[in-house]
Amino acid sequence: MKNVADIYPLSPVQLGMLFHTLAEESAEGSGVYVNQYTCQLVGPLNLALFRQAWEQTVASHPVLRTAFLWEGLDEPLQVVREAVELPWNLLDWRGSELQAEKLEDFLSCDRTRGFDLAQAPVLRLTVVLLRDDVCQLVWSSHHLLFDGWSLPLIWQDMLSFYKGLSQEKAPDLVVRRPYRDFIAWRQGQDTEAEAAKRERFWRSQLSGWGEPTPLPAAYSTGAKRVQAYQQQSKRITPEVTQRLTKTAQQYRLTLNTLVQGAWALLLSHFGGFGGGSSGGKGVMYGSVVSGRPPELSGVENMVGLFINTLPVCVEIQPEMAAVAWLKERQQQLLALRDHEATALTDIQKWSDLPAGGPLFESIVVFENYPAAVDLDLDFSVENVRYIEQSNYPLALLVVPGESLELILLYDTARFSSAVVTQLLAHVELLLSAFLERPIARLCELPRLTEAEQRLLKAPRQVDYPRELTIHELIEQQVERTPSAEAVVFEGEVLTYRELDEKANALAGELRSRGISAGDRVALCLSRSREMIVCMFAVLKVGGTYIPLDPDYPASRLVYCLEDTAPVLVCTERSVKLPSTTFPVLFVDDPLLNRDFAGDQNRLGQPSDLAYIIYTSGSTGRPKGVMVSHRNLVHSTWARTDFYPEPVGRFLLLSSIAFDSSVAGVFWSLCTGGTLVISPQRIEQDLQELASLIEREKITHTLGVPTLYGLLLESANVRQLATLTTVVVAGEACSRRLAQQHYSKLPGATLYNEYGPTEATVWCSGYRIPAELPRGPVSIGRAIANTQMLLLDDDLQPVPTGAIGEIYVAGDGVSQGYLNQPERTESAFIPCPSSLSPYTKLYKTGDLGRYQPDGRLEWLGRSDRQVKIRGYRIELGEIEDALRGHGSVQEAVVIARSTGLATGLKTGLETDLVVDNESLVSALLALPAAQADELLATVEGGGG
Ligand code: AMP
Ligand code: MG
Repeated sequence: MKNVADIYPLSPVQLGMLFHTLAEESAEGSGVYVNQYTCQLVGPLNLALFRQAWEQTVASHPVLRTAFLWEGLDEPLQVVREAVELPWNLLDWRGSELQAEKLEDFLSCDRTRGFDLAQAPVLRLTVVLLRDDVCQLVWSSHHLLFDGWSLPLIWQDMLSFYKGLSQEKAPDLVVRRPYRDFIAWRQGQDTEAEAAKRERFWRSQLSGWGEPTPLPAAYSTGAKRVQAYQQQSKRITPEVTQRLTKTAQQYRLTLNTLVQGAWALLLSHFGGFGGGSSGGKGVMYGSVVSGRPPELSGVENMVGLFINTLPVCVEIQPEMAAVAWLKERQQQLLALRDHEATALTDIQKWSDLPAGGPLFESIVVFENYPAAVDLDLDFSVENVRYIEQSNYPLALLVVPGESLELILLYDTARFSSAVVTQLLAHVELLLSAFLERPIARLCELPRLTEAEQRLLKAPRQVDYPRELTIHELIEQQVERTPSAEAVVFEGEVLTYRELDEKANALAGELRSRGISAGDRVALCLSRSREMIVCMFAVLKVGGTYIPLDPDYPASRLVYCLEDTAPVLVCTERSVKLPSTTFPVLFVDDPLLNRDFAGDQNRLGQPSDLAYIIYTSGSTGRPKGVMVSHRNLVHSTWARTDFYPEPVGRFLLLSSIAFDSSVAGVFWSLCTGGTLVISPQRIEQDLQELASLIEREKITHTLGVPTLYGLLLESANVRQLATLTTVVVAGEACSRRLAQQHYSKLPGATLYNEYGPTEATVWCSGYRIPAELPRGPVSIGRAIANTQMLLLDDDLQPVPTGAIGEIYVAGDGVSQGYLNQPERTESAFIPCPSSLSPYTKLYKTGDLGRYQPDGRLEWLGRSDRQVKIRGYRIELGEIEDALRGHGSVQEAVVIARSTGLATGLKTGLETDLVVDNESLVSALLALPAAQADELLATVEGGGG
């Protein structure tokens, strides 16, 4: 064979890297595992000698003359060439402008160029002349050749050659054993017994680790992967570095252990695998080890690829003292070293993680490299940068020194630079926590930096009429705009004065029937102007209104009535109310027109309940949410703070039994807008809905995204031209809907409101921009006087980018569930004073994530509650209803994108799984009345 000096197999780590390179290159182009070293050489440099020095370096290192062959071979081989030609590229940019920009472009192109691994050398050099005495060296090579440790060794040899050449003397070189010695040593280790030992060890490390460790928010931006790596760095001050070193010594820990401990803890703040035996969380990351076996003499001076990346599985035991836990980490890292020569591809095979995915996505590299020797040359080496492309989305490089440096190398397709800045701040935070509080328990260590803490604890306080009731606010509006249109239904108008007069008349009637402050009045009314009059009248006498939809199944109406035990039920002759024992007032009968306006006593206090609205409950019992005037005034006032436009003509789509009606009714009536009530079931006739919007010149509306999406699809855009403000709420708003909105109605603004009934309609809002930022459509920021906290299971705040459960504190947090103290206690919990100035927290069951700019994303539920066409349904409630039937033993209900699916286990041991549509036929086997009832429960889960 010609030009072959040596042939030998690859090390396991090289094999793994070769495998990855080939897999990624076919998928995404080249550039994986390309390492790039660049620096400026300042001062007199003899370029001819410099090039010669490099040629001699390549000639003296077999590794630098190595090519990799695999095609047609049983196993890949590395072939060392006798001689190679050094790729040398000279660019003259002297006098050219924008050198810095050009250089960045050059560097990134150079990194993505990749290498032909079968052609030695798998490296190239470029010298760019920047000024007469300054040039930039760019040295790129494939990582298969050598590791970061080898780099200063090669550099030192090159400089020795240069020095020898320029002084016309033989170079002063260190004797280095060739890489093939390491390969030979490895092969000696490859006995069956050793292999079995390795496998046993790694299996025991990984056993039980069945879930991947999550990282902060990950979005696919479609950015080309090969260009996607960036880095950020942070230097720890020399004083703190010194103290860290001292503390580490004091507890016999290494700096490496401290940093890896901080990284593991930080990962656990982003979630993690909850299977630890101590009840703690488990996280896994990769640790890069030097891989240089101490048994091999002279190994520290060898050039080649030794490093390996190994999984570190860490259990976070919340009750353990930091130092004790760190000591365990150190023991663990030591134990890994005994088995460090195992290929990651093998380890992966022994793990319980789903095949196909990576074991871990973040790695820690402690760069304990030998320092280059100072050779006293004429030129100096400045601005050194060494970029190691990894195929891990996140790599923490730790460079020890007088001032410890932390570098995060990240995939920009996965992380924004703000998230990376925050991650670095958190590593530093945890390192200083180890310093300041070494014996604190892990769960006591800080999760947020001081700046984050300040931001978290300070809700935006805005003044509002805390001492007024909601009806007093409407009455003030009556004074301001008596002849403005207040309520419109089917073309018929009530002005503010008329609304007030009618409400006073009805209030007089209510008073004469003995209704007074604190009494509950149920409203079971069809959609009409009177519906609003009744609400207003009940509030005026200090009562609490309980809206019930006449379309509810009878059993649900009876349940709600019995639960609230109203002093009076206001209804109409046309409504089929199930028979009850509660007194009834038919509001369509002629009234006695008693005068109420003369009543000078103030009725109703801010702390009294304004309404009770029912939502679905998981144990078959709907929950009545009790909302006070203060809650409601806050919620309504916050709209004037958030929305730039006052209400013009608001189209009320939702049923008043649904809490989103509260938004429209009170926002309109407290600000002088006109409330246009849509006729019953208008959502079933989208043409009519569009005509209504056109006819009534609607400016504002609020509805579930599904309905708005259907409207946009079916309506003639011209009919929607008067809309200025469209609010979607109650369900996640898709990107598609937002895009559709702005393409059809660029003149109207789309808002996304989020909030549970328990926090009084809404707690955050987002003005959706026409240019959507990446990720799901945000639910925005907390409204005034409201805090939205993202907490983990231990009620600890999670960092930005981590998923946590949404908890709400503030003036909107309602008074709990009627007659259900246990459920109230578990959902409305005392608020730790470290988190909030408020005393109560409402646990929403929603999952969310904060973006670095402070906007929230909604990411689903932590329980089995679903939304179907805006209706909040706890699947357990349906299951419970089904189980209540004699011939059903067991029932399972799941939500599917097309609706609900139900599995029933009947007395006949038949299992059936049906979707929503076929539920009807499946239930036909049941008595008709029962089937209707069940279906009605499914359809109308409540507000
Ligand atoms: P409700 O009490 O009927 O208003 O329902 C509140 C629940 O609806 C919340 O807990 C969320 O699960 C869901 N929800 C409300 N608004 C939104 C929104 N803008 N995006 C996603 N989910 C929402
Ligand atoms: Mg709601």
